[in-house]
Amino acid sequence: MNIINSERLFLEAQKFIPGGVNSPVRAFKSVGGTPLFIKKGEGSKFYDVDQNEFIDYIGSWGPHLFGHNPEFIKTALLESIEKGVSFGAPTEIEIKMAELITELVPSVEMVRMVNSGTEATMSAVRVARGYTGREKFIKFEGCYHGHADHFLIKAGSGALTLGVPTSPGVTKGNAADTLLAKFNDIESVKELIDANKDEIAAIIIEPIAGNMGVIKSEDKFLKELRTLCDKEGIVLIFDEVMTGFRVARGGAQEVLGVKPDLSTFGKIIGGGLPVGAFGGKKEIMNQIAPAGPVYQAGTLSGNPLAMSAGYAALTKIKEDSDLYPSLEVKAVYLEKGMKENLAKLGKNYAMNRIGSMSCMFFTENAVDNFDKATQSDTELYGKYFHEMLKRGVYLAPAQYEAMFISTAHTIEDLDKTISAHYESLKVIL
Ligand SMILES: *Cc1c(COP(=O)(O)O)cnc(C)c1O
Repeated sequence: MNIINSERLFLEAQKFIPGGVNSPVRAFKSVGGTPLFIKKGEGSKFYDVDQNEFIDYIGSWGPHLFGHNPEFIKTALLESIEKGVSFGAPTEIEIKMAELITELVPSVEMVRMVNSGTEATMSAVRVARGYTGREKFIKFEGCYHGHADHFLIKAGSGALTLGVPTSPGVTKGNAADTLLAKFNDIESVKELIDANKDEIAAIIIEPIAGNMGVIKSEDKFLKELRTLCDKEGIVLIFDEVMTGFRVARGGAQEVLGVKPDLSTFGKIIGGGLPVGAFGGKKEIMNQIAPAGPVYQAGTLSGNPLAMSAGYAALTKIKEDSDLYPSLEVKAVYLEKGMKENLAKLGKNYAMNRIGSMSCMFFTENAVDNFDKATQSDTELYGKYFHEMLKRGVYLAPAQYEAMFISTAHTIEDLDKTISAHYESLKVIL
């Protein structure tokens, strides 16, 4: 594969941008090699600056439920751009967007728009603290909630593969208010609550974790978490930045049947533009300025261009009743093909999947928590990644990420992927 132009651009980029990228996981650090610079995306594929074509399974790392540059989002953006791109004053589409979110996700009664998933989780914890008058919160090992200081403690995703348990620059004070529990282990939560009686404002969790590979929380665990929060007056926050509108119209909370007090969104909600949102119970959300005293703001929040893309995406999600069933069919097809490959190769690697997000771990033990996820042979993943890339399949350049299928992926794409998977594994094993 010729990557001369990407190599040249990567050298150039490193002169002006730290590490040459604007988000660390893009740099191929955990798989080695040169990151490819992308020129164009269309449907299930994107193309790099050396004219290589790839079937894309990162979908901008989550947002592209409909593949690259779908016509209906492009149209919405073009119509919006004609009227001007930002006003710093309220617009009608913000109401439509908020109303649609509350309709799709019943636990959300009110919502505030922000510009990224990080802002959403950061603000959700702040309002939970304001509402309860408490300072500490619980997060789970391997869950990623964006890059705000108090979340960068045993976080997943890029923070996990970089191998830094807690980032330099995060103060001891900040870290002290973050309590760490074990995913799918209710006893670890109870212990923290007992040791910090009436001091815990919130518990935040990815109900289906997507940043330590893909791991679903167990039904009993999540229900007990809900009960504990009710009993102790703790605000339960579901971080659905990845799972929202991905695993079902109503997100992981619909799939798992547990309602949080607050939810956070990002990725799909922006239709590919930089958008996040957090919302939930009216009583809590009304604590936010200017309705209440908890400060939260954003010069570009609710930006009309971003809202038009997001509103188009969510409208499609609302109206297309075949959307999730057809994604499920494709996801099952791919999973089945890969499992058959593994059987042929005599390997029993753990494969976790919920709807159109999945992950293959290079370990034969079932993966249901962070410790088990980290048993995966990440060096082997790196080799696998490069073999797939050579065969025109672009996976996340790190083990602990999800593989996303979009509505644009065709059976032909999936067949190609299945044979690439077999050939790649045959080479590296
Ligand atoms: C991606 C992600 C975030 C952070 O969102 P950004 O838009 O990258 O700031 C937070 N939580 C979860 C679960 C995510 O997957």
